[in-house]
Amino acid sequence: MADEGRLQGKAALVTGGAQGIGRESALLCAVEGARVAVVDLNLDGAATVAGEITAAGGEAIAIGADVSVDADVAAMVAGTEEAFGALHVLFNNAGIMHHDDGDAQQTSDEVWQQTIDVNLKGVWLGCRHGIPALRRAGGGSIINMSSVPGLIGGYNLAAYNASKGGVRLLTKSVALHCARQKYAIRCNSVHPTFIDTPMVKAMYEGSPDPAKTKAKLERQIPLGHMGEPDDIAWGIVYLASDESKFMTGTEFVLDGGITAM
Ligand code: NAP
Repeated sequence: MADEGRLQGKAALVTGGAQGIGRESALLCAVEGARVAVVDLNLDGAATVAGEITAAGGEAIAIGADVSVDADVAAMVAGTEEAFGALHVLFNNAGIMHHDDGDAQQTSDEVWQQTIDVNLKGVWLGCRHGIPALRRAGGGSIINMSSVPGLIGGYNLAAYNASKGGVRLLTKSVALHCARQKYAIRCNSVHPTFIDTPMVKAMYEGSPDPAKTKAKLERQIPLGHMGEPDDIAWGIVYLASDESKFMTGTEFVLDGGITAM
């Protein structure tokens, strides 16, 4: 771990940290000197990631939580403050995508509710409990995971579009509230396109011809390939650090050029 990393002295909490974008973000935040709370529904997975960080000389804890449950979110924030004495960076990353998410007519009540509860309510609960903690720390950075489908629509993504579009504007509301109150808390949303994580692998590996399905997804991306988790995680390090100290209420788009079309 770096002695003078970009996040030296900061305590960070990453939800959905057991795998994919969350795991890579937790690892890179630690490489840059942050103490990291790795939070996930999957506590064993979170503990493995926290173990990787401590084995490399960093400081990390694992917490099991469901981000859609108010008491769990309160406990994950309290647990982080207790372990590290403060919370400066909150990455509300945990999210789900149902592969049978459908168009507005097909979407089931269950898919709608679960998608909104985890992807949108989970982010709101993170902000609600995170803001007082970041204030106690003297300020900090909240990073909310949206998506390219939080910026543009898809005919068959009704619930996912609604949840991620909601995160985009919730983030602006949080940013303006914190600025108005002079809390020294910034809040930005992140908008990746297809990143090769377990969530996206499940989309193409479960198809009859995985290579063909993957190629079809990649043809939509001007750079010609999917992103890797670190393509997003380095963006998270930037938003978490003081390098982005004048940035709040913005949409950080990491999409291989998709939304340029
Ligand atoms: P992933 O590989 O599926 O990892 C997500 C992690 O979040 C999993 O460990 C999962 O645990 C956990 N999780 C799910 N529901 C949770 C809950 N209610 N409370 C706490 N943890 C929960 O996903 P990813 O691809 O890294 O995506 C991370 C975020 O980026 C999501 O919000 C996703 O919508 C967004 N995103 C992803 C992409 C992409 O292409 N990958 C693109 C744009 C945006 P379990 O495995 O136990 O469920």
